[in-house]
Amino acid sequence: MKKKQLKYDIAYLKMATEWGQLSHCIRKKVGALIVKDRMIISDGYNGTPSGFENFCEDEEGYTKWYVLHAEANAILKVASSTQSCKGATLYITLSPCQQCSKLIHQAGIKRVVYASAYKDRSGLDFLEKAGVELTYLPNEQE
Ligand SMILES: [Zn+2]
Repeated sequence: MKKKQLKYDIAYLKMATEWGQLSHCIRKKVGALIVKDRMIISDGYNGTPSGFENFCEDEEGYTKWYVLHAEANAILKVASSTQSCKGATLYITLSPCQQCSKLIHQAGIKRVVYASAYKDRSGLDFLEKAGVELTYLPNEQE
């Protein structure tokens, strides 16, 4: 059973990586998938809100403040559907930041599987404290 879960985890994370490639952002491309009861209920990548230009960086190369992170986009997509994140697993290529970790916990996500760790670990520390199961699954494991 555990081995089977790992197989799924690797496959979903691979899909999240693929999804991240759709991002228009230059500095960082992050992909996310939300899976519940073996079903993908949402997806997301980092980018500007709908209706805004696709450029994530300003003239100086800095990321614009209103760029939404991949996991925030995926959670918001669920929020505007009839689904709910309660008990779901989030697959994300980069570990969540402080802001997103709050959303993840509050949305009811119970598990986060990530491929690489963001330099600021406070998001992960927060999730751990909130009782969200964390699984670090680096890409090399393929
Ligand atoms: Zn974030």
